[in-house]
Amino acid sequence: MKYLKRLLLPVLISLSIISGCAVDKSSVGGFNLISVSEEQQLGDKFAVEVEKQHKVIRDPEVQAYIDGVGKRLLTGVRKQDFPFTFQVVQDESVNAFAIPGGHTYVNTGLIKAASSETELAAVMAHEMNHVVARHSTRQMTQQYGYSLIVSLVLGGQSGELSKLAADLFGKAGGMYYSREMESQADYLGVETMYKAGYNPDGMVSFFKKLDAAEERQPNTIAKYFSSHPETIDRIKDIQKEIAQLPPKSWPPESNSQFNRIKVKVQKL
Ligand SMILES: [Zn+2]
Repeated sequence: MKYLKRLLLPVLISLSIISGCAVDKSSVGGFNLISVSEEQQLGDKFAVEVEKQHKVIRDPEVQAYIDGVGKRLLTGVRKQDFPFTFQVVQDESVNAFAIPGGHTYVNTGLIKAASSETELAAVMAHEMNHVVARHSTRQMTQQYGYSLIVSLVLGGQSGELSKLAADLFGKAGGMYYSREMESQADYLGVETMYKAGYNPDGMVSFFKKLDAAEERQPNTIAKYFSSHPETIDRIKDIQKEIAQLPPKSWPPESNSQFNRIKVKVQKL
């Protein structure tokens, strides 16, 4: 299979580029040269690097809380190829990121900027769906080539691995997805929130808030928005999708736990 993949690689890449132009947002089974088990191994190696490069918050209450939000969101994803993990990392930029294999990291800056658990869940749902649709390995294959990715999976290139981890998931770096991938992660993120019992309007309110903050003080909202498509367009697409969902009544949410965690994170 590996030999076949190598032989067909140029054809497959051009096919995936062509099909990339007309992404069906609701389809998560897109073509990927990297197998699920290769992605898992790669992700586990990246997680070790990421956790060297970021300070992981080891507070048991914060950990239990973020696990709880993550697990609830998992009830609303279309498929789960990977055992997701959730961690909070000390970083003031308003961001969360998920690496191959489902390791999901939430910055302290995101918890501080969110005004409710639903707003926090909105960003997590977006990031988790990059994993569900396996965007990172597809993007990395296009950007760095299949053979480099496979050699990282096989090991023996630890210098290369930590450099790539810093480029893609480090504090100064960032993974750049295509516009289609971003809009698919929004689309699936809304669906995930809805199914997990989080009001997807929280995604709209949070994006609007960040967009306004970014306009007031450019560059403060950092990576999350610089690496994402035009916020106004995203908000419009999200609102359109929400309008098509069967109406649901959303009881007022309790944010006592969220607020306690937020206070704790503010003191770190
Ligand atoms: Zn994204």
